[in-house]
Amino acid sequence: MKVTDMWKTGQKPTISFELFPARSEKAAESLGRTIDTLAKLKPYFVSVTFGAGGSTREGSYRLVNTLKNEKNLEVVAYFAGYGLSPKNIIAVLDDYQAIGVENILVVRGDPPQEEEFKPQPDSFFHASDLVTFIRPKYDFCVGVAGYPEGHVNAPNKEKDIKFLKLKVDHGAEYIIANYFYDNQYFFDFLERCQQAGITVPVIPGVMPIYSIKMLETLAGLCGATITDTIRQSINGLPEGDKDALVAFGIEFANRQCEELLKAGVQGLHIYTMDRSKSTIAIVDHLRNMGF
Ligand SMILES: Cc1cc2nc3c(=O)[nH]c(=O)nc-3n(C[C@H](O)[C@H](O)[C@H](O)COP(=O)(O)OP(=O)(O)OC[C@H]3O[C@@H](n4cnc5c(N)ncnc54)[C@H](O)[C@@H]3O)c2cc1C
Repeated sequence: MKVTDMWKTGQKPTISFELFPARSEKAAESLGRTIDTLAKLKPYFVSVTFGAGGSTREGSYRLVNTLKNEKNLEVVAYFAGYGLSPKNIIAVLDDYQAIGVENILVVRGDPPQEEEFKPQPDSFFHASDLVTFIRPKYDFCVGVAGYPEGHVNAPNKEKDIKFLKLKVDHGAEYIIANYFYDNQYFFDFLERCQQAGITVPVIPGVMPIYSIKMLETLAGLCGATITDTIRQSINGLPEGDKDALVAFGIEFANRQCEELLKAGVQGLHIYTMDRSKSTIAIVDHLRNMGF
């Protein structure tokens, strides 16, 4: 099923999860358990990341195939086109098409860390160029990424929205937003989208807090502000108490999700980091609240 059909007017907001392919055998075992647990929550769909430069091509493909064809979950396969030639892109997407994938989310990706990685000379520069190339060749429902606080390299939020609009004009049918720790960033972003004439569904990302290290590292990479409220709350927790931190992360995400749902968002996309505990607690809470 195309995810956009899940966001038709009048339907319940979707709850969905992001997963990434395991990087080791041990991680694969743990991911298998996570998938089985999360599948019981009956998400509307799950998404699978794709390492820029094709670094996780095999792993992403295997995970997408398992989720779609063994676990019978609806899947959004992310595709990061950084450095890949048109031929590479077609090879990846033909594989996804062959196993019945109906939804993809196209991102540019960032340059891989490996020094030996050289982008193909005919690779594409922006996600909008990738969408333009991919859209007419496939029947996928195509989504793109949006940034409530603006993309880290964007000169300002207004320019960033113009480029987001370009992705939509070139054929993107929905937007999944980066996570944020103050809902006001998302509400302002929605307003900018509206002003720019973007009318496709915009689904907020929710990142529960799992550890201080992960919080700092990821926020640094993707430009999500760690608000004073978050910092003060964490400072008030017993030092080094990992369980208390995770419990705070769940409670914070619960409040954030409730407010987003009350404001009428069409869905919530939870970044699971391949863990299940926080996601289960959040989804249970929201369902108990009647969402
Ligand atoms: C929901 C979500 C999923 C993601 N999944 C993955 C994943 O699976 N794998 C991965 O590697 N990364 C992933 N990312 C991260 C993403 O690849 C990075 O944020 C990357 O830096 C930007 O990708 P983009 O598609 O937003 O790029 P773009 O839309 O191309 O934007 C990148 C920058 O260029 C600017 N820009 C865009 N178009 C133009 C133009 N025509 N002229 C000048 N400037 C322009 C934008 O303002 C922005 O600053 C994901 C991000 C999100 C929010």
